[in-house]
Parts: sequence; C-alpha cells; structure tokens
Amino acid sequence: MKQSTEETIWQVRNSFLGVYVHFPYCFKKCDYCDFYSEGIGGGPANDEFTLFSSYQKEVLERVSHFPNLRNKTVDTVFFGGGTPSKASVKLWDDFLNFLRSEFDFAKDTEISIEVNPEDLSPSLLESYAKIGINRVNVGVQTFHPKGLEFLGRHYEKEKYESLLTTLTESPIPRVGIDLMYGIPGVSETDFFSDLQVFLEAGLPHLSLYSLTLEKGTQYSRDVKDLKKSEPEEQLQSKILVTLPELMGKHGYRWYEVSNYAKPGFESRHNLKYWTFEPYLGIGPGAHGMIEGNRYGNPRNAKLYQRKTPSNQYEFVTPGSELSLTLFRLFSPFRYLEFIKTYLNPKSQERYIQTIHSWEKRGLCSISNGVFQWNKQALLLLDDLILEIAD
Ligand code: SF4
Repeated sequence: MKQSTEETIWQVRNSFLGVYVHFPYCFKKCDYCDFYSEGIGGGPANDEFTLFSSYQKEVLERVSHFPNLRNKTVDTVFFGGGTPSKASVKLWDDFLNFLRSEFDFAKDTEISIEVNPEDLSPSLLESYAKIGINRVNVGVQTFHPKGLEFLGRHYEKEKYESLLTTLTESPIPRVGIDLMYGIPGVSETDFFSDLQVFLEAGLPHLSLYSLTLEKGTQYSRDVKDLKKSEPEEQLQSKILVTLPELMGKHGYRWYEVSNYAKPGFESRHNLKYWTFEPYLGIGPGAHGMIEGNRYGNPRNAKLYQRKTPSNQYEFVTPGSELSLTLFRLFSPFRYLEFIKTYLNPKSQERYIQTIHSWEKRGLCSISNGVFQWNKQALLLLDDLILEIAD
C-alpha cells in the first residue's frame, strides 16, 4: 500500500471493486449497536463452516447476475461485523483464496479486519499477517470501564490494558482503533485521557464516533424507560470541533467526518462508500452497490444460509446519493469529475452553483476542479448536505 506524504485527492475509480463480508456473531450484543449481530459468548459460532460456504455461494450468484464484475480489479476487502475476529483464521484464509481465484487482485489490495479487544493477541496478528491481512482495526470505544458498562460491552481488563502495546508491536503496520465520545458518565476529561493514550501510542488511524440513539436498540429502550440517559450532545459538539486542530498537531489528517489517519493510512475500503465506488456486500445483513444498484441481505444468519441471495436490486439515482456521501469527505476530491460522471446536466449546474455559493461564504475552497471543506463547515454539515441534495 502506497504511503505518501502528499495528500491524496480522491477521484472516480469505477474499474475497482471492494468486497465487504459480514460476520454476524459477537461475544455479547452491545446495548447501543444497531448492526446485525448476535451475542453467542466465548466459543466459536456453530454454523461457521456453512456460513463461509454461503459467502462463496453468494459471491458466485452476484457475479453471475453482474458478469461485468469479473472485469474489475479487487483493491479492497473488508471483514466486518459483528466480530469477524471471532471466526477462525483458516476460514478467512480459505475465503481470501477463493476470492483470489475468482477476481483479479490489485498488487496492493487493502485487506482489513475488525478485531474486538477480547480476541486481540500478538499471535492472532501474526496469523492475520501470514494470510495477507494488512489492516486491522480494534473497536475500543473507551478505556474507561464505567463507559463500557454503560454501553453494555464485554470487558476484559487485561485485554484492554495490553491492547495498545499489542498494536504498536503488530507485524501489520496499518492498525487503528475506534473511540466513542458523548457516553453518559464519561466526562470530557475522561474522553481526552482516552485520546491521549491513543496519541502516545502513535497508531496511524483513529475513528471517532459520537454515541447515538438508534431505534430498536436496547439502549434506546432504556432511554425511553428512563433507565439510562441520552448521549451528551452538547459535549459531542464541543469535542467534534476541537478534534481537527488537535489531531492535526499530532500529524493526523482529517479525511472524513469521523476518521483521522496519518498520511497514506486512510481506510481505502471505507472511502469507497463515500466516493460511489462499487462494492460487493456479502453475508447476512450486508449491503452492496454494483453498477448503481443497491441491495441488502436479510438480517438473519439462518435465513441467509437457507435462501439463495435475493435478486432484488434498487437502482439509485446518484444525484441525491452522491451528496450524502461525497460531501462527508474532509480530504480534497475532484468534484467536477464526480459531478460530470454521475449527474445529468441540470443537476451538474445546480451542484456547481451551490458549491460556488459555499465558497463565497468561506465554507470550502475550490481550485482546478478540486473541492475541500473548510473547518467552519463542520457543525453545519448536515444542513449543507441537504442544500445540495436533490
Ligand atoms: S461488538 Fe460491535 S458489532 Fe458486536 S454488538 Fe458490540 S458494537 Fe455491535
């Protein structure tokens, strides 16, 4: 993977393909989580083998529905979930070999896996490195046990205490963690102490999410029943505006609303979602987008394995989609190229007018067809995106 000191300027890359695979099992279902996932305790899932053969079956079905997929080069693979580090390394290895036999892989294909703290160990990272995984992200959320308890997350003290050392000594250099802010009971000082621990470790990637209330979660039921407090929104806004400068001082680039990376360490796979690049979504609860067609798989592992993948696709008009994703990027992108590729002439004109009005208001800079937000846009972002959406 190229690691440049030049800032990457994102552009249209339709000849590449990402593959996302959803492994739906976790040690425990966290209270705030609205991903499709099931808590099954410490052991392996008893349907691991059949699930992985269903993954292969789905890939073949999608390719037979969209034969042009074979002409694309896979340049990112992402094992997410759920907790993909719960599945055996051998199964991921076999699945990667299967993908390699079906598609052309770029030489520097990014292969990522999400790891939960309870699974992380030096030997696990070594095994991942051996099978070609070259990017690891650990869902930490906070190092404060009271915060983890509030979130209903599984917590093993020794694992949390050793995880940064394990990651700094990792044979895989592209490593990062997720942190969360606005958790009731975790003060501003507590959050910045989490951040300080990360900065001292100097890992190259950080995702920073604010806690949100998602419908249908245990957390939202607890808030409704007055058993738990809502996320600390005022604190969240305060932290959000402080971060870009603070992270910048430590050499991290703010490349998406919630993501910071040292130069060259951005998650290329996640960038696909924001730049309208095609990706296969494989597994229960996964979503994909191929040639402008979106699809979603059932959020039920048994049903997913029983049925052949649905051939229901929804063609999305890039007009509104593009605004919702592209303008979340805080790193520069070739806006004229995106607009000309995906929009009709009338929408192109409207986008260009809106972007010029933002520039006059000091919210963004544009030059030679390249767009970049200024930090003044951060707190207005949702409204600005609505301004440009169709
Ligand atoms: S470990 Fe992650 S995916 Fe699993 S329930 Fe918790 S937040 Fe959701």
